Amino acid sequence: MTTITDNTPARPVSLWPAAHAADARRPRSLQTKIGASDTVCARRAGYLLHGRTPTDTGERRKAILGTYLHAGMLEAAREEYGWIIERRVEDDTIRGHIDAVQLDSHTAARLPKRLRPFLAAEEITVEDIKTKSTFQWDTVVRHGASEAEIRQVLLYADLLHTEGFADIDGQRQLARLGPLPVGRIRFRFLNRDSGEDHVQEMPFTAERARGARWWVEQVRAAETPEDLPRTFPGPGLSAICDNCPFKTACWGPDVAGRRSQSLLVRDDAERAQLLAEYVEVAEQMKPLRDRLKELRAQLDGSEEGVYGANALSWSGGNPTRVDDTDAMAALFTQAGLPVPTAPDTAAMKAQLKAAGIPVPVRLDHERRTAVSINVTARKTP
Ligand code: SF4
Repeated sequence: MTTITDNTPARPVSLWPAAHAADARRPRSLQTKIGASDTVCARRAGYLLHGRTPTDTGERRKAILGTYLHAGMLEAAREEYGWIIERRVEDDTIRGHIDAVQLDSHTAARLPKRLRPFLAAEEITVEDIKTKSTFQWDTVVRHGASEAEIRQVLLYADLLHTEGFADIDGQRQLARLGPLPVGRIRFRFLNRDSGEDHVQEMPFTAERARGARWWVEQVRAAETPEDLPRTFPGPGLSAICDNCPFKTACWGPDVAGRRSQSLLVRDDAERAQLLAEYVEVAEQMKPLRDRLKELRAQLDGSEEGVYGANALSWSGGNPTRVDDTDAMAALFTQAGLPVPTAPDTAAMKAQLKAAGIPVPVRLDHERRTAVSINVTARKTP
């Protein structure tokens, strides 16, 4: 608690320390057993299952905002539509909380009236709400849920299908329904920035869930987390790894000037193989990059609008902001302050060049040029 002891205006306290502390106390943040929502990365699921202590705090602010939005939307749906929300499902190997279950009329009629949804679904549907940023939105609309997101919801649906709702306080009546014939899974994506929503549905079948179950079995069968594959390519290449609580355990501590992924190369034979693949991929990409440039040139100047399956818009092309030195000098003069004078580098360079004198340079060891990779074919003797 903050105590105000004098009249000095204090900087308003940040809300984030409170949000992070509350988030760390959430049951999901403390669980050490595998949960359906932990099935994003095999290695990470292994760390959790083996009770390893997280090595990194990661950036949680976007995730926390997503959690608040998620909770608010679900609560509104419960109040207004009578949705069955945030219910636990589990068996001996996995557990999770389903965002929402839509019951068909036949199943809903088996519940006491006060627990029935206001509208029955055509078939029993397991719903999951995912919040996304505008940056991710185009991928979501074009490609739908990721493999990991589908796996998670298939696991929820399969638990409901095989076990029913968990028999715990607060949902005993639901548990009495027993295993339920789930017919469909549904994703509701919400754009955190614009509020747009996008729905994706797919039929649920036990056959479809088998792959997700097999994935969990592989994680459970591993003797150590290190025996499990890394599902993502690592820090700097995947936002999931950048924010992973086990980033250091998985990739080791950061080493200045080296990418984390470099630890994957053990000897020159592997290096040779990677270089060969690098050349092959670069060759495959060249015609595509060239074609992209041609297409961009042809589209230049086209009006914004919807053409076929795609919407075209333009960004950029605005004047850039530069320091207005004259206006600054005028402000200083008005205020009676001395206008700082500094050597005019551009004018001096131009004058030296005009006189044919090389422009002197020195090395700045604080600033480094980007490291580029150069691969050329080996000369045969
Ligand atoms: S750092 Fe990436 S690959 Fe490693 S456990 Fe975390 S999510 Fe998986």
